[in-house]
Amino acid sequence: MFYFIFYFFIILVLTFQMSLGSFGYSRRQQHNWPREFKDCGGKFQSPIELSPSKSIILPLPSLELLGYHNYLPRLTIKNNGHSVALNVDNNNLKLNRKLPYIFGATLEDNEGYEFSGLHFHWGLKNYRGSEHVVNGIRYPMEMHIIHKNKLYLDIKEAQEHKNGLVVLGIFFQLQDEDNNNLNPILKNFQSLKWIDSDLKMNLSITLKSLLPSDIDTYYTYRGSLTTPPCSEAVTWIIFTNPIPISFRQLNKFRFLSNGEDSLGDNFRKLQDLGKRKLYLRKLNDDFAKKYDSGNFNISDLEWIYE
Ligand SMILES: [Zn+2]
Repeated sequence: MFYFIFYFFIILVLTFQMSLGSFGYSRRQQHNWPREFKDCGGKFQSPIELSPSKSIILPLPSLELLGYHNYLPRLTIKNNGHSVALNVDNNNLKLNRKLPYIFGATLEDNEGYEFSGLHFHWGLKNYRGSEHVVNGIRYPMEMHIIHKNKLYLDIKEAQEHKNGLVVLGIFFQLQDEDNNNLNPILKNFQSLKWIDSDLKMNLSITLKSLLPSDIDTYYTYRGSLTTPPCSEAVTWIIFTNPIPISFRQLNKFRFLSNGEDSLGDNFRKLQDLGKRKLYLRKLNDDFAKKYDSGNFNISDLEWIYE
């Protein structure tokens, strides 16, 4: 009888987890993502491997940032079991000034994307953690800053459209000294140890302080969310220059729990580029001769090889 109740309980817990749409990062679990989330088996998935040899190198327009020097509005910071995520507090939104906003790069002239949240992917070992791989390097951590097309009401609606989201990818590189810009985020990590714990916080932090000082060089391509439901709604903009983090600071991320173990190694395996075009923005003398002040008709850029 005891065993019966025990197994019944286990099945109950498993069913509950399934119904929450939870997902894991083991090789087998990732393989099964498309079963429950069809888009995860699509042809325009992320992350991918980035390198100049796979790219079309052009002097594309720069990415323009608005409100990136302002302190962020009130955010909710949460350990959701597969990452730690900072999200704009929607209930509080009416009171807020305008959210940080991006345009330029390869985004259509009439499209603006506003900040909606950010989260991290990191490794339990120093030689792994980032989702995108650059020139064969997998950095110990990658941050994703999510922006939603203003045409759409919320993230859920944006996910259903090809031009719904822009995600900025920022790599972290280990160093001995702390990166003090991360301290406001890390300050309360102790209370986020357990899964589903969250905090509302007024962070004295600007998005600018979380970007590399040089954002002139970036990769861009069309892809997907790297977590289920893997919606193919993302224009990726990934900066080649990393920002620093100390060993001590990275360990604060590894201190978090996913319910069973240390939270970490929450990166998806590389996906095929397939027929997609990968662009690398770079400026150099050759381009200056060839292009008239980088005047591109962005609408003419193609994203796949026919
Ligand atoms: Zn992510």
